[in-house]
Amino acid sequence: MEYRNYKVIKEERIEALNGFGLLLEHEKSGARIMVIKNDDENKTFNIIFRTPPKDDTGLPHILEHSVLCGSRKYPVKDPFVELAKGSLNTFLNAMTYPDKTMYPVASCNNQDFRNLVDVYMDAVLYPNIYNDPRILQQEGWHYELEALESDMTYNGVVYNEMKGASSNPEQVLFRQIQTALFPNHPYGYDSGGEPDAITDLTQEQFVDFHKTFYHPSNSYIFLYGDLDITEQLTWLDETYLNDFEKIKVDSELVRVEPFKDRNHVTKSYAVGQETNTDNKAYLSYNVAFDKPGSQSENLGLEVMEYLLLDAPGAPLKEALLKLNIAEDIFGSYDSGLRQPTFSIIAKNTNVEHEALFVETIESVLGKIALEGFSRRKIEAAINYFEFKVREADFGQYPKGVIYSIKALDTWLYDGDPFENFAYDEAFRQLRESVENGCFTSLISTYLLDNPHTALLRLIPDAQMLAKKEKQLKEKLHQYGSTLTKEDKLALIEGTKALKKHQAEPNARE
Ligand SMILES: [Zn+2]
Repeated sequence: MEYRNYKVIKEERIEALNGFGLLLEHEKSGARIMVIKNDDENKTFNIIFRTPPKDDTGLPHILEHSVLCGSRKYPVKDPFVELAKGSLNTFLNAMTYPDKTMYPVASCNNQDFRNLVDVYMDAVLYPNIYNDPRILQQEGWHYELEALESDMTYNGVVYNEMKGASSNPEQVLFRQIQTALFPNHPYGYDSGGEPDAITDLTQEQFVDFHKTFYHPSNSYIFLYGDLDITEQLTWLDETYLNDFEKIKVDSELVRVEPFKDRNHVTKSYAVGQETNTDNKAYLSYNVAFDKPGSQSENLGLEVMEYLLLDAPGAPLKEALLKLNIAEDIFGSYDSGLRQPTFSIIAKNTNVEHEALFVETIESVLGKIALEGFSRRKIEAAINYFEFKVREADFGQYPKGVIYSIKALDTWLYDGDPFENFAYDEAFRQLRESVENGCFTSLISTYLLDNPHTALLRLIPDAQMLAKKEKQLKEKLHQYGSTLTKEDKLALIEGTKALKKHQAEPNARE
């Protein structure tokens, strides 16, 4: 099949999704397109940009909010809200990840689907952020002053959101684990934003980030369901992609060299001043892999994580709980990164238990690497995962949205996205490795003999909030002291105007 203005890279039947897969490049703009055509009425579109952060200002996250605040064709200040009201969508959202930002929509109605895609394409490629600085102020941060004698404050949607996130210990933990495993790398920064760093962000950096990364050459466009492929591609080409020339975008996620020595890090999180901090620490044992795993390795590691830490009688969890050093033990395996990560976490414990925690993990893993699990247990676990994959029940998430995210496990790192759906082959390989007795070698290869590890302890700090509050006050006071009375009066007017603008209904302006 030929599609005008697109180069076909690959086409194949995708058995597991009961459909036909098509991988294309838009010739003029360089946009990458993936289509899965099947009979799912719940059509899905997703446009993804690779957005590696280079600091903690939360640029990717603030931009994710901001492009949805009006665009060339849809100049209302909140098209997103308007859209959600009148639409038959089954999904409408935007998400920021450590290395990508995505805009998925789904709908069963053809006209509605087209409208949603049009609003999203226009939003990401032609947002109003260039000519309306109020957008960064509202979504990112701004100074607020109510009256001459009042204290100045910071405000902003993402600023407040991330202040909230920084009081959730598990969010802080996972954030810090990434920094410990990938120091001086985009994964080491917070794509969501650290409140203290968000307020350093300038309008110039903000529009620059959009200019650099929100270009079709840096995009991954996903189409799924019962669609007229030719019609969709022609429309995308004529309405949007054809207006862009291919450029080189520097967004590649470089590989972090494995460590020579284990990285050992201590970080803190804020708890209330009156909190008893005993048994409120987290200990974590973390490993990063060298490259994206094959589908059967990914499945194997998910099964392994389940067997070690989640399944009834999971030996690693049992051994750690038996020590009576922590309230809970859990694990996580994340394949949605250039280098997947595996973590084992002790919740509500004390740092002096760290040596015992690490020793126990290594001795249990060593023992299992030698002796293996019972065949029956592995088979039951594989059957359970296979059932879940084939059942494809993702709760309120449309299938297409989940598949678009899954495709990125390899696609975002220049691999073949279809590989992620070759379940038959992956389960066959996995069962073969059990047959050959190789399954447990995943433990030695990926966990025990892997030098790229980090131990992160997260400790509660009852003074942190007060300390931060004081620093914030000083910073604001310092800034305030550089302002003249006229500046302050202007700021008071600005605060009023922004509030008024936010309260206005969505009239076209
Ligand atoms: Zn947000």
